Amino acid sequence: MAKAQGTLWVVATPIGNLEDLSPRARRVLAEVDRVLCEDTRRTGRLLAAFGIRAELVSVHEHNESDRVPGLLTLLAEGSSMALVSDAGTPLVSDPGFRLVQAAAGAGLDVRPVPGPCAAVAALSVAGLPTDRFAFHGFLPPRAAARRAALESVSAGPSTLVFYETGQRLQAFFEDAAAVLGRDRPAVLARELTKLHESVYRGSLASLAEMAGRDPDVRRGEAVVVVGGAPAQPAEENEALLRRLLPALLEELPPSRAVRLAAKLTGQPRNRVYRLAMSLDGNDPEGPPEA
Ligand code: SAM
Repeated sequence: MAKAQGTLWVVATPIGNLEDLSPRARRVLAEVDRVLCEDTRRTGRLLAAFGIRAELVSVHEHNESDRVPGLLTLLAEGSSMALVSDAGTPLVSDPGFRLVQAAAGAGLDVRPVPGPCAAVAALSVAGLPTDRFAFHGFLPPRAAARRAALESVSAGPSTLVFYETGQRLQAFFEDAAAVLGRDRPAVLARELTKLHESVYRGSLASLAEMAGRDPDVRRGEAVVVVGGAPAQPAEENEALLRRLLPALLEELPPSRAVRLAAKLTGQPRNRVYRLAMSLDGNDPEGPPEA
């Protein structure tokens, strides 16, 4: 009889404080045939702290693609493995995407063991809206590309989450203040769960100033959380739509004009549709889908 397929466990590990390794993560790491990790020395130390001996296989950014076929074969033959990264949740600004995509695509069993993640930990204490948030990981290090990336996310209402290295924090905040607005509320969460954990709150401009003045603020690992674009007052939106819609309706089929106007103003499509109808009897091909 063919041996049952193995499971690929995707296991979150601490982002600083070892007490954050869950009992389930510990059990899975102790039970699997192999632990796939970015850095065998680092993961070896983590496992040793919990008295776990495991066969470690290095899977990092530069060798992941090459490793995938062999690992899929082992899984299909019944081998079980745990994927971890240096810290936090694998695949979140960390390797593992190619392996998980391939394993899931091959119909293999892929299961999460959830736990620490710096982005979620920062959001949980930021005190900024969490009903909608967008994770952007690391922005490009070069100023022009970083500003362009910030431009592309500046209009959305979602809370924004970024990873950044300490040394780039001042430049990051200066660019963010220039592009997103000096007064946008922001939170800098650094060294979470570690000895020097600190959370600074303020406007983007005040955090830029603080990161420039205080070298301690620039030390260690950091997550930046920024409030979404402020909602425009209803009358302002209405006035904007009344200017936009006639111009768009002249150039585009009505349904496309409505869709584009809704996208540009962030207004619900139904509302834009009703306004378009009321302008001069346009019928944008029936009400839009929800
Ligand atoms: N996979 C990890 C996770 O789940 O958070 C993230 C890995 S990414 C390579 C490393 C970045 O995560 C750091 O540069 C920093 O932006 C953020 N980070 C990791 N640990 C952190 C901590 N203890 N406090 C604040 N930020 C942290």
